[in-house]
Amino acid sequence: MSSNHDDNVAAGTTTTAPPSSSSSSSSFRNISSSNNIPTFDGDDKAKATDFANYFCAYAQLYHQKQMLTDHNRMAAYHAAIMGNPDVFKDKVVMDVGTGSGILAGEMASFLCQSFYLMFTHLTLLYSHHFTLTTIIGTSTTTTYTHVDNTIIVWAAQAGAKRVYAIEYTAMANHARRVVQANGVDHIVTVIQGAVEDVVLPEEDWDGVGLVQEEGDVEFHDDGRKNQRVVDIILSEWMGYFLLRESMLDSLVRARDTFLKPKTGLMMPSHATMLLAPITDEEERRASHTDYAAAMEDWKEFAETTQTMYGVDMSVLEKDFDREQKEYYVLSSRWAELRSECLLAEPCVVKEYDMHTCTVEDARGVGLAVGEDEGSGVPFDFDVVGRSSAENAHDGAVGPISGFAGWFTVDFKSRTDEVGRGVAPEVSNPAHLSTGPVVGYTHWGQQVFHLPSAIPLLADQTTRLDGTMEMMRTKESARLYNIRFRFTSSRRKTGSDKEGGVLMKSKLEELIYQMP
Ligand code: SAH
Repeated sequence: MSSNHDDNVAAGTTTTAPPSSSSSSSSFRNISSSNNIPTFDGDDKAKATDFANYFCAYAQLYHQKQMLTDHNRMAAYHAAIMGNPDVFKDKVVMDVGTGSGILAGEMASFLCQSFYLMFTHLTLLYSHHFTLTTIIGTSTTTTYTHVDNTIIVWAAQAGAKRVYAIEYTAMANHARRVVQANGVDHIVTVIQGAVEDVVLPEEDWDGVGLVQEEGDVEFHDDGRKNQRVVDIILSEWMGYFLLRESMLDSLVRARDTFLKPKTGLMMPSHATMLLAPITDEEERRASHTDYAAAMEDWKEFAETTQTMYGVDMSVLEKDFDREQKEYYVLSSRWAELRSECLLAEPCVVKEYDMHTCTVEDARGVGLAVGEDEGSGVPFDFDVVGRSSAENAHDGAVGPISGFAGWFTVDFKSRTDEVGRGVAPEVSNPAHLSTGPVVGYTHWGQQVFHLPSAIPLLADQTTRLDGTMEMMRTKESARLYNIRFRFTSSRRKTGSDKEGGVLMKSKLEELIYQMP
């Protein structure tokens, strides 16, 4: 057991110390025996590898800054928190993965310093090192001096009674400074540790007045105090195509340990994964050119090795080819697509109600329970080719270059059976989309380019009919592979989906890694 204590901020305790940076072995499978992410129940070696592979990036201000300058992200969280002060007032809040402390901070001082801080954090979004003198009206002048741009104070501004800001990495130290510099350290408690291991500070039960929900037990059967005393869990846990990084597992654990079951609120409350066919030929071709260049290079290398050293390397060509293909062609790419790239209405491949989803749901998409594969989630896209009628401008030119996947999250009232109408209403819902229409987010879209593009013909509709699975890789429980199985068929635009088929491809199966 260890605790991280700071003189100015009461420290919570964790049942295990966060591992320090440690060596990782490439042959080591970065999953625990139960197939969970190691922060749950991995041994020390698994946790150390997880730190080396995953958490180290979050310990850098550079990485946190990338997220803090994603204005679509910031605006959505800001609207959710500041637009609903009635929901936050006098509540116990937990920020799971507080990073630099922005969300936790926002709530703490809304009541006492709203004018100053609202102005402050907006300014912070655009500045690195700054000294701000704010003059509101004629009489109020205040100065804030901060040392870096992670200094943003949010969660506390909305009037919460207590905010627990949980952060695994040493970024927690920066968060403490943020909280202190913004004068909300009497509300925000920064706890460094994995949320899976956190125990709320003993003194807060009386000091803050932590109470379980009416009807809930005070102690578990094993004598442990029931920690479900948190009114709102706030978290920015989403990875590329929602699931990458697998932080959802940690969030589900946090919810089931700390959130009041009936009246508690998750923020965001709902998440949706979307998929659509796209045209993106320039990028698709570029990947192929890089792949072809790598193979050309191999040929030259093999020839040189033969003539200069008399060694035949051609036996390895196939393996090199597979490796390069996986890297250049069968890996998804980050993209910021324009809305014109979309060729059909996106389809929902998975919806998460954050109040009810499970660790099993977090394992992937379209999988059989407990398995690494399944029958997939169905999709069925109709891509309408351009019309050849005179003066007609409708329909797409294409071709179909591949699929794009992205997600949205919502901050709204509970819709699940237990909490609907019982938990406080979120009267000003907020929405965050990472889709092609909204402009830049640091998540962007994940693009899966096809090995060969599917042309669109005038007056014909191309149908892509198939399934998608998303499963954790064998090497890391925080990374995913995506499998598409589909056929494409063409019919005259307007004719019957099943009946008027002019041509149908064989079933195509493609497996991509999401790096
Ligand atoms: N809330 C911040 C940072 C979001 S990034 C913001 O919105 O800017 C997610 C953060 O969660 C990272 O800093 C990461 O280190 C932390 N994190 C991930 N899993 C965690 C866990 N199990 N326990 C505690 N922190 C975790």
